[in-house]
Amino acid sequence: SKTLRLILGDQLNINHSWFKENNANITYLMVEVNQEQEYVKHHIQKIVGFFIAMRSFADNLNELGHQVVYLKLDDLYNKQSFEANIKQLIKKLKIQKFEYQLPDEYRLDVQLKEICENLEIATKSFDTEHFFTKREDVLAFFSGKRQYLMENFYRDMRKKHKILVDEDLKPIGEKWNFDHENRKKYDGKAPLKFPLTFKKDVSEIVKLLNDNGIKYFGTINEKAFGHPTTRGEALKVLTYFCKELLPNFGKYEDAMLKEHHTLFHSCLSFALNIKLISPKEVVTEVLKTYKQSENTIDIANVEGFIRQVIGWREYMRGIYWAEMPSFADTNFFNYKAALPTWFWDGKVKMNCLNHCINNSLNNAYAHHIQRLMVIGNFTLLAGINPTEVDEWYLGVYIDAMEWVQITNTHGMSQFADGGIVGSKPYVASANYINKMSNYCEGCSYKKDLRYGDNSCPLNSLYWNFYIENEHLLAKNPRIGMMYQLIKKMEAPEKEAIKKLANFYLNNINKL
Ligand code: FAD
Repeated sequence: SKTLRLILGDQLNINHSWFKENNANITYLMVEVNQEQEYVKHHIQKIVGFFIAMRSFADNLNELGHQVVYLKLDDLYNKQSFEANIKQLIKKLKIQKFEYQLPDEYRLDVQLKEICENLEIATKSFDTEHFFTKREDVLAFFSGKRQYLMENFYRDMRKKHKILVDEDLKPIGEKWNFDHENRKKYDGKAPLKFPLTFKKDVSEIVKLLNDNGIKYFGTINEKAFGHPTTRGEALKVLTYFCKELLPNFGKYEDAMLKEHHTLFHSCLSFALNIKLISPKEVVTEVLKTYKQSENTIDIANVEGFIRQVIGWREYMRGIYWAEMPSFADTNFFNYKAALPTWFWDGKVKMNCLNHCINNSLNNAYAHHIQRLMVIGNFTLLAGINPTEVDEWYLGVYIDAMEWVQITNTHGMSQFADGGIVGSKPYVASANYINKMSNYCEGCSYKKDLRYGDNSCPLNSLYWNFYIENEHLLAKNPRIGMMYQLIKKMEAPEKEAIKKLANFYLNNINKL
C-alpha cells in the first residue's frame, strides 16, 4: 500500500532500517515548518544547522533512490504545520498508510499521536534506532527505588553492553568511576587544539530566514559555518576527537579557559542529537582508540567520556520520559526573577559570565561546566524563573533538544525539580570558578571578598542562597555542613551578605 513516512529534523539516521531497501510505494516527507522555529526564540546557528543538515539528508536519500518530498520554508505548498502538510500529501498522493519515528520531544509526541487520531488511514510508529535504551528503560530500572541515581544506571549499562569491563564484568582500571580525576585546572601541559570546523557558505539559508521574518538571536559567520551537518563531517569530528582530544578529555573535563572555549571536549552533541551518528558508533570508536593506544591513554580520560555518553545522555532521556510533562512546571524554590538583559547581548562585567555568555552567543555552544557552573550557577543563585532559564538554554545551544536540555537545565542545574535528577543543587562561589579557570584574572570584581566594595557577586549570592533557602535545604544530608558554617557566622556578617546580595539582585542588569 502507498505509504507516507515523516522524518523529523532530528531524525537524520541514514542507518535506520527504513532505508535498507527502496520501495516505489513509500514517500518520505521532510518539512521546514514555522512551528519548529517559533516555540522559543532560537540562535540563528541552530536554525541554520538544522536546515542545512535536513537538506543534505534529503539529497542523500534521493541519491540512494528513495522518493522524498522536501518542503522548504518558503515553498508554495508548505502549509507550515506538520498536520496540514501531512494531510495535503495524503490526499495528493492517495496515501493509504502514515508512518513516523517516535519523536524525542514530549510536545511532538503528543502532537503526532493527535495527528494520527485525526487521520482516516492506518498509522504506525517506529523506534529511531539511535539510543542504547528505550524511552521506558530508566523508569523500569529504578522501579521500587526511592530515587534515581545515575551511577547505578551507568554501572548497569557498562555491564549490560560489556563496555570497559573484564570477563567477570568487573570494571577496567578497578574503579567504575574516575570522577575525582576529572577536576584539574588547565595547567598548560597538554597542547591545545582548535575544534575541527567546516567552512560552509550558508548565506542562502540566512537570507531565507530574513525574507520570511523568522525571529532569531546570536551571531553567525555566513561564509564559514563551522558545525558538522552531514554524516561524513560528523565522522571526521569523531576521528579528530579520538586522535587529538581524547588523551586529555577526562583530566581537563571541568576546566575553563578564557583563550579557548572547547578545550578537550568533543563537540559531538549536535551531530549525535540529530542522529547523524549514533552513540554506539561513538563508543566503539573511543574504545578502539583506547585499545590501540596500549595504555598510553589514561583510563580516566576514556571512562569520563564513556560515562557522559552511555550514562548521562541515556539517563537524562529516561528521566525525561518518566517525568514529563509535570517536570517542566516544577519550581522548587518558587523563583520568579527575569533573566538579565545581558543574556541576549553579552554585556556583563563579571569576567566568567562575560566569557561564557559571549561564547554561547557567538558559537551556539558552551561546554558542560560553562553551562552548569557558570551560567546555570548564576541563574540559580540569582533566583531566576526556571522556565525563563529553560527557554534561553533551549534557544541558544545548537545541540538543545528538550529531552536533554530540560533535564540538564531545569533538573541538574536549577534544581527546580527539587531533586529528581540530582541530589543537591550545583552552586559555587568565586572560589570554585577561580580553581577551575583563569576567568578571575583581570576581573573588575574581587574574588576573595565575601562582601564589601566590588566583591564578586557570586560570593554574596552564594551565601545568601543558602541563608534564604534554609527551610528547603537544611535537611538535605549532602548540604548539612553548609548550615554548620552559617550557624557560626556572626549576625552582622550575615546581614551584610544579605544586603549586598539584594543590592546586586536589584541591579542585576548592570553586573
Ligand atoms: P563532551 O563533553 O565532549 O561530551 C560528550 C557527549 O556526552 C556529548 O556530546 C553529549 O552527547 C554527552 N553528554 C555530556 N554531558 C551530558 C549531560 N549532562 N547530559 C546528557 N548528555 C551529556 N547537552 C545537549 O546535548 N543538549 C542540551 O541542550 C544540553 N543542555 C545542557 C544544559 C545544562 C544546564 C547543562 C549543565 C548541560 C547541558 N547539556 C546538554 C549537556 C552537556 O553540557 C553537553 O552535551 C555538552 O556540553 C556538549 O558538548 P560536547 O559534545 O563537546 O560534549
